[in-house]
Amino acid sequence: MPEADKYPIGFFNLCLMLFTFFYISALYFFELNCANEKLSYTSNHDLLTGLFNRRFFEYIMKRHKAEDESEYTIALFDIDDFKKINDSYGHLAGDYVLKEVSRIIQDCQNKDYIAVRWGGEEFILFMPQTDENSAYSYLSEICRKVSSFAFVFDAKRINVTLTVGMCTGNDFGMYESIVRTADDRLYYGKRNGKNCVVKSTPDEPLQPVK
Ligand code: GH3
Ligand code: MG
Ligand code: MG
Repeated sequence: MPEADKYPIGFFNLCLMLFTFFYISALYFFELNCANEKLSYTSNHDLLTGLFNRRFFEYIMKRHKAEDESEYTIALFDIDDFKKINDSYGHLAGDYVLKEVSRIIQDCQNKDYIAVRWGGEEFILFMPQTDENSAYSYLSEICRKVSSFAFVFDAKRINVTLTVGMCTGNDFGMYESIVRTADDRLYYGKRNGKNCVVKSTPDEPLQPVK
């Protein structure tokens, strides 16, 4: 007579125990997996806009540093007079504008581009393998889309424009200085009427002749 037939209750208990053990383990691993995915998403993304965050941008630039020498462009966007939007329509309207602008930047972007919320109402677009002229037309198109988009919050229409500073380079080891130059150009745009894309400024030092 087989063992299982001699001790039917014991065998049943054993099966039940094994089933419970595997079921609980599977549940535990599923939960752990979900928690890990959530953690990895929140460590790389900005939660309000869903764009990548600054930390992820730095990770990507450092990774490229080691393996790439191709031309790339970095653009820094800043929403014009955003404080006035918050003051006139409220903080929630400001959040709505941030989300919509992020969506437009993301919808426009080429699949290899990386859109990042840099902080507050500032964004970075990392455009690998993109020269100055193509980047300039691309960024001008994003600005046109934003300025013509109907932002409506609480039945009120809000006008939104962007100022963008951009810089093209090919040395990933120098990406911080590319970001700095893009930032200087952005502030040149702010001082000179806003709602524009700046690819160079008259007061930049002349490049040394190589
Ligand atoms: P400029 O055209 O020179 O860029 O002026 P600005 O008003 O856009 O810039 P300023 O730096 O004076 O104001 C930025 C404001 O953005 C101030 C801050 O309260 C607001 N802000 C930053 N982060 C958020 C956010 O997550 N949500 C909202 N609603 N406002 C934010
Ligand atoms: Mg700003
Ligand atoms: Mg601003």
